[in-house]
Amino acid sequence: MHKELFSAFINILFPKACHICSKDLKDKTTAFDDHICASCAGQMKQMPVACCALCANKLTEEDELKSLKCRACAEDPPAYEVLLSCYTYEGATKELIHRFKYSNRPYLAGSINRLMQKALTATGSSLVKNADAVVPVPLHPARQREREFNQSELLAKEICASYGRAFAPALKRVRNTRPQVSLKKDNRLENLSQAFVAADPGMVKDRRILLVDDVVTTASTVNEASRALKASGALGISVLAFAKG
Ligand SMILES: [Zn+2]
Ligand SMILES: [Zn+2]
Repeated sequence: MHKELFSAFINILFPKACHICSKDLKDKTTAFDDHICASCAGQMKQMPVACCALCANKLTEEDELKSLKCRACAEDPPAYEVLLSCYTYEGATKELIHRFKYSNRPYLAGSINRLMQKALTATGSSLVKNADAVVPVPLHPARQREREFNQSELLAKEICASYGRAFAPALKRVRNTRPQVSLKKDNRLENLSQAFVAADPGMVKDRRILLVDDVVTTASTVNEASRALKASGALGISVLAFAKG
């Protein structure tokens, strides 16, 4: 059967609906793309400008606002240069991540990439354009087997396709760490120490790296991954996340 005719037939049998609110997506004017509606996309809260350029925490004090760095990051800077999180991890953003990761819908990576592009355009960020290669934060092989895909890898691939960057799955997670949020701050770094190694240092040596994660919470994971990239000779590292938890 002709491909277009076939997809028209599929659309009649299974009409496209928003993965977040279930609204019918037949009407192109109210659809953001094939998977989510414009209203849900519009509800996603972009990160405020007044947040730390290194961990995305909210800034309150005057000297923090001037330097765009929180006190903790100024005192103990991470191994990467800048971190940009597109949205806050709540409401429609959180729903979308849940559908993507826990309901096994890998194709939603395309929608998340489009939403990230929207946020990057709105902030005028050249984060992706300045990178030579895009590295996803890896999952431990045991966790990847459970989920069947690595969400950060799918996002990194989408970004590479949109911006014409090199996809570089250079890191390997060698320790299956516990979720960072469940730990006290002192235990977080210990939990992550040596969690990552460069599987292929040649992919990152002398290159400017964009490290991609879906959700950043404490930023210690991306910091630990950045250390492994630096040890492999990366020129500089920027971090891009879809959401800040
Ligand atoms: Zn919706
Ligand atoms: Zn900070």
